[in-house]
Amino acid sequence: MTGAPVPSEGHLRSDRSSEGALRSASGSAHDAWSTPERRALRELVADFTAREIVPNLAQWEDDGALPRALHERAGALGLLELGFPEAAGGVGEHLDACLVAEQLILSGGSSGVCAGLFTHGIGVPHIANAGDPDQIARFVKPALAGQMITSLGITEPEAGSDVAALTTRARRDGDAFVVDGAKTFITSGTRADIVTTAVRTGGEGHRGISLLVIETDRPGVSRSRLRKMGWHCSDTAELRFDGVRVPAANLVGAEGTGFRQIMVNFAAERLSMAVQAYATAQRCVDLTIDWARARRTFGAPLAQRQVVRHQIAEMAREATVARTYVRDVLARWQAGEDVVTELAMAKNTAVAACDAVVDRAVQLHGGMGYMHGVEVERHYRDARILGIGGGANDIMNEVVAGRLGLDG
Ligand SMILES: Cc1cc2nc3c(=O)[nH]c(=O)nc-3n(C[C@H](O)[C@H](O)[C@H](O)COP(=O)(O)OP(=O)(O)OC[C@H]3O[C@@H](n4cnc5c(N)ncnc54)[C@H](O)[C@@H]3O)c2cc1C
Repeated sequence: MTGAPVPSEGHLRSDRSSEGALRSASGSAHDAWSTPERRALRELVADFTAREIVPNLAQWEDDGALPRALHERAGALGLLELGFPEAAGGVGEHLDACLVAEQLILSGGSSGVCAGLFTHGIGVPHIANAGDPDQIARFVKPALAGQMITSLGITEPEAGSDVAALTTRARRDGDAFVVDGAKTFITSGTRADIVTTAVRTGGEGHRGISLLVIETDRPGVSRSRLRKMGWHCSDTAELRFDGVRVPAANLVGAEGTGFRQIMVNFAAERLSMAVQAYATAQRCVDLTIDWARARRTFGAPLAQRQVVRHQIAEMAREATVARTYVRDVLARWQAGEDVVTELAMAKNTAVAACDAVVDRAVQLHGGMGYMHGVEVERHYRDARILGIGGGANDIMNEVVAGRLGLDG
């Protein structure tokens, strides 16, 4: 630690200007990410992040959750409705929702904030796409307005990657279902008003799965908070359902279509996580450039050491390649192309870039990079989940391997 600067307020918060963060977003004037409307959206997000998130993030990390007021504020600014169908109260494309997440991270937020604030992005798309008008009015519109917190409950203690093996049972009883089972690792689960829950209404395998919206204030629902390595400001819960009576009117789409709905919506979730991964990498590049300019060792700034300069050049290359590839796959997916293989490759490409860059960023920050409250330390911990959630790296490779004809 000899010679290391004492952590000061300057190291604990972002000191990059929002202008710098906007520049990091890159993109030529011709591309879809840089239209005048989207540049304005970027500025709105940069301002929102600087005012509402950066000054409070350390406290929310300690609290283990985001405040409801943040959802209301984001909803009022129209940031939560992006990428949802117009019929459900949405506007724009998935690219717009991705742009918001990207800019939030580039401006000093984090993937943890994205996980907690944008959980509706995984919690209610199924309802927006397959729900009836009553469900859209009760669940989707309040979520997009930031008035309702939503979760997606798929993973169980004994079934994660293997979604088709889930055992939470929903038994039909008159005009209701009675639900028994458990879900784990559920993002925003301690605060959620509703959980879009994958339940078994039929026999074994994927055809027996349905989606049911469970309000968390129903008798028989209990939940406990899980502590974890990163994403501290995003609460994560274990949920138990003991004889929970849920109206059949909460069934999303037809009985037995839950697995298909989940798989369809995985595409958007994986793209969102890939965007968070390359944005985290880019943010760490930016922070490391600032640091390397300011930090002096043996009489010169780190930025003058060729080995350091080349490492940062490599970090920038990895972030740029990931961004370019993910944006390309996103555009092709939005155009309706079959990009199942590329989507899996894009998530893994962005996660690999992120893992490598956050590691180098911490290394080049020296002891300071290991200090609690320093931004690269938070990104280092937050990044680890991106290769596990929404389909682990190995599952992505299984998808690719299958498409390569390796199934036999
Ligand atoms: C912070 C956090 C937030 C989450 N949020 C949610 C949420 O909101 N909703 C929700 O439903 N779930 C959520 N999850 C769960 C997440 O989606 C699962 O953890 C993930 O899908 C992996 O499932 P698992 O943990 O059961 O791992 P397992 O399925 O047990 O797999 C363990 C590991 O084995 C490897 N593996 C698994 N299968 C294979 C295979 N066939 N071939 C090769 N390797 C394999 C992978 O590396 C995998 O990571 C969250 C998890 C975390 C940690």
